[in-house]
Amino acid sequence: MVKLGIEFLKSCPGPEGLPADGLPEVAFIGRSNVGKSSLINRLAGGRKVARTSSRPGCTQYINIFTTSRKFYIADLPGYGFAKAPEHLRRQWIDWIGWYLRERKPLRGTILLVDARHPGLENDLSMAQYLMEGGKPYIIALTKSDKLKRGKLAASVRVAREMGPVIAVSSVDGSGMNELCKWLADTTAAGISVGS
Ligand code: GDP
Repeated sequence: MVKLGIEFLKSCPGPEGLPADGLPEVAFIGRSNVGKSSLINRLAGGRKVARTSSRPGCTQYINIFTTSRKFYIADLPGYGFAKAPEHLRRQWIDWIGWYLRERKPLRGTILLVDARHPGLENDLSMAQYLMEGGKPYIIALTKSDKLKRGKLAASVRVAREMGPVIAVSSVDGSGMNELCKWLADTTAAGISVGS
């Protein structure tokens, strides 16, 4: 099983709290409930380092995790929660937009997209935003265990319109080695996969 030695470091409501030591960062972003916490926990070897969402759309914090591989994981607040009030949505756009565009140590972003719904409008917009930002990003197609092989292949084809795709499952572990390789390449941190 993949283990990245992931530990929660802190929650940051704004730029001042972010790590200042210049280590590379990789951001995880996606709609609320897409499976982001579950994926981070899976990458942590099954330990609950990230809290699975209880109040989707309500937190505006970026959660920072350390890894034993000399890079940080930045868990960005989920988007696409219809009931989030307008002022929170605007705050989200300012804060997360700043982070994705201006944050110097950010080396790349994992955009999580539910394998069962690969072409949703706000995911397409986010992929477009990331593409225009010019930094590496990858689509992690989550909950792939929920689809039969043919349906998953169709979903991967749709998602490829948004960028390079890795189908993942936090339940059966598929895609984890590939995801770790992408993390290693992107952060140049030399992650070894396997047991
Ligand atoms: P977050 O809001 O993006 O952090 O999403 P969570 O990680 O809390 O997951 C939302 C729901 O999807 C939870 O009920 C999880 O158990 C479920 N889930 C997450 N990942 C997977 C997966 O890979 N496979 C399956 N079958 N369910 C998943």
